Amino acid sequence: MGPTATIKLSALQHNLQRAAELAPHSRLYAVIKANAYGHGLLRAASSLEAADALAVARVEEAVLLREAGIQKPLLVLEGFFNVEELEAASFHQLEVAIQQPEQLQILRQNPIKKPIQCWLKIDTGMHRLGFQPDAVDAAWQFLSTHESVAKGVRVMTHLASADDLADPVSQHQLKLFHSLTQKFSTATSVANSAGIIGWPEARSDWVRPGIMLYGASPMQGRTGEQDGLLPVMTLKSRIIAINSFTKGSAIGYSGTWTCPEDMRVGVVAAGYGDGYPRHAPAGTPLLVRGKRLPLIGRVSMDMLNIDLRGLPDAQVGDEVVLWGDGLAAEEIAQRAGTIAYELFCGVTQRVVFKEIDG
Ligand SMILES: *Cc1c(COP(=O)(O)O)cnc(C)c1O
Repeated sequence: MGPTATIKLSALQHNLQRAAELAPHSRLYAVIKANAYGHGLLRAASSLEAADALAVARVEEAVLLREAGIQKPLLVLEGFFNVEELEAASFHQLEVAIQQPEQLQILRQNPIKKPIQCWLKIDTGMHRLGFQPDAVDAAWQFLSTHESVAKGVRVMTHLASADDLADPVSQHQLKLFHSLTQKFSTATSVANSAGIIGWPEARSDWVRPGIMLYGASPMQGRTGEQDGLLPVMTLKSRIIAINSFTKGSAIGYSGTWTCPEDMRVGVVAAGYGDGYPRHAPAGTPLLVRGKRLPLIGRVSMDMLNIDLRGLPDAQVGDEVVLWGDGLAAEEIAQRAGTIAYELFCGVTQRVVFKEIDG
């Protein structure tokens, strides 16, 4: 008896549609890296039929998709790191981001049979991957004349703080990107989910929604529901035991929570071994029969405790929603000091996945 992650495919499709509505003049890369943010790589790829294209972080992820028969244009956001990856990209006709001089070197030294579509990635302020502004022209020159590179090189950048509408850095990044790339007159891509939702000017030729497809808002202090999104994953389990304790009883490891009165305490079959965050503090909500009840004590590997005072009828066997339908993953993430992205990616292998809505 353990948790189940129900994946609602119609919600995934709804959220894609929502991204398309927000960026009506853009084409869309549905970002399905990291096992589609924990939702299942192939499941997501095949249900996101309506996306113009797909994007992943690494060549291995793209190869899995091609080997499973996925034909859509497929962008590798970090590009290749050695000749084997370059050859795989050519063989499988992957699109690649070119973000550092080492990749130009690999191209220079290893002629390939089929040219590849390249995106020149520019660092406008994220300071992670990308060519620095003063190196852009030379990289462009190299790529747009190299025989291994398909005609029509495109340009991209990534926003560092698009989730914060008050941070001026996005505006600065947008301006810098425009000034560096305008002269190339080619297709551009800037926006992740937060760019799509929060920054109209970031909705350029191609957008790259990730987290919003899975129903969580990327924006600080908001939930997906407020942005017109539906939760895709609902993580549920059940109450496996109920005990009555007297006032003063300490609950769980290290006895960090003490019963303030005589009360019933439930045990839920979900813990950090399933991907429920151990840092979730007492008071983090759980949903039982539509009612929010607080987590109490420390989350352990397989179980956690729940205060049943608010639901006198609760019984062993009752279903408990940990996040998803009716309980935003963003809220649980915030309580645990993290983001919904990490909760989704952290659901472990022993959790049983089920799809609904074909
Ligand atoms: C992961 C990623 C995205 C998607 O980001 P979200 O915040 O999940 O929408 C877009 N672009 C790049 C380069 C990424 O690495």
